[in-house]
Amino acid sequence: MTAEILPLLELQRLVAAAPAPIEPMPITDSPLLRLLASLERDLLATLMTERHCTAGEVIFREGASGDAMYLIWAGRVGVFKGNLQSPTVLGYRGPGEVIGEMALLEEQPRSASVIALENTRLLRIDRETFQEWLNSNPAVGMSIMASLSARLRSSDNILNASTQAKRQLVRKMSELQSEKERLQELQRVRQETSDLVIHDLRNPLSIIYGVLSMLEMVLPKDSLENNRELLNMAHSSAARMQRLIDSLLDIAKLETDEFPLNVMSTNLRALVEDAVKREAFPAQLANVTLETVIPSDLPAVVIDPDKIDRVLMNLIDNAIKYSPKDAPITVSLDYQQDCVTVSVTDRGRGIPPEERERIFERFAQVPGDRPRGFGLGLTFCYLAVAAHGGQIWVEPGPDGVGSSFMFTLPL
Ligand code: ADP
Repeated sequence: MTAEILPLLELQRLVAAAPAPIEPMPITDSPLLRLLASLERDLLATLMTERHCTAGEVIFREGASGDAMYLIWAGRVGVFKGNLQSPTVLGYRGPGEVIGEMALLEEQPRSASVIALENTRLLRIDRETFQEWLNSNPAVGMSIMASLSARLRSSDNILNASTQAKRQLVRKMSELQSEKERLQELQRVRQETSDLVIHDLRNPLSIIYGVLSMLEMVLPKDSLENNRELLNMAHSSAARMQRLIDSLLDIAKLETDEFPLNVMSTNLRALVEDAVKREAFPAQLANVTLETVIPSDLPAVVIDPDKIDRVLMNLIDNAIKYSPKDAPITVSLDYQQDCVTVSVTDRGRGIPPEERERIFERFAQVPGDRPRGFGLGLTFCYLAVAAHGGQIWVEPGPDGVGSSFMFTLPL
């Protein structure tokens, strides 16, 4: 029968998985070898035949019928279960150790494959010869059986230990599962509570809006003019709070896909100019200038104008918050064949490269920033732009100064 040799690559994979070098068992410690050493040379020769295996040779395959046991004289072998492409490694054996010993006791298929990991010299005893010899040497046979039985006991112990470990693992997994369920429930209750609180903030806010409008109506003209700045401040803060509340409510809806867009054909130029006009007062307070660059032939886009207005306002708001005094902020529009690109560019401190994706996540803020918001504005922008089939990202501004927040809307 010709020997089956594994391809080099497969052998290299098996060798790489081996804990090299394995400690060879001292030859004198092997009960079997000690017994065999005590036998006469001639007798030994009648009992055993030599087998030389080259590296990669399959000594026997899992499932093949077992008719012999091997004693390793020199070299190293691996014991594997399952497909040899991705096997379970059962162990490694070296000089003085035996493999396939169960074949001497019973005629069963091999329970694992054994592969020579390097050039190996084996001594082979087949079942028939062994059993004949046992009949005439019961005492020697008993010792061999004792060593086989010790081996069986030790594998039983290993099996026991692994069953216990498995049970422990199953217990731990079920503990983790219940902990996960508890945390999910906690998270759900927290989310529901915060959604309720956010929802209820709308009522006092609409009262503030109403009072501001009434004041504008009832205040005498001169006192209205004297207090114009205060009223503007109250108005723009209330508008900001309104945007925050709407974003919080929308983020929850957008994340659960229950977010109907109210799309219509929209003049994006008018929408941008209107947003810039509303941000003029906060920009003036922060001493920054707002400018727009809009092509004259911009086509109409089909979008939810309310959502895209809030995306713009969030981006302009951030640009104002993070710009140094007297720096310009540019809102520009551009269009290609299939989409419009909107960008808001500031000359602030920019976003570190490692934060450029993360800042779009819920509550994410650039580390070290003095918190000036809740880290939700960009999350809303991301979800709202994605709901329109567009993309949003940030890149460094011109000459690497500041940042350019850009988003696309399909045409
Ligand atoms: P926040 O309410 O905290 O501003 P955002 O989601 O709008 O929440 O922004 C998240 C974080 O991204 C901010 O806290 C800030 O660290 C950073 N950031 C956003 N816009 C800018 C910008 N134009 N320049 C510098 N950093 C910015």
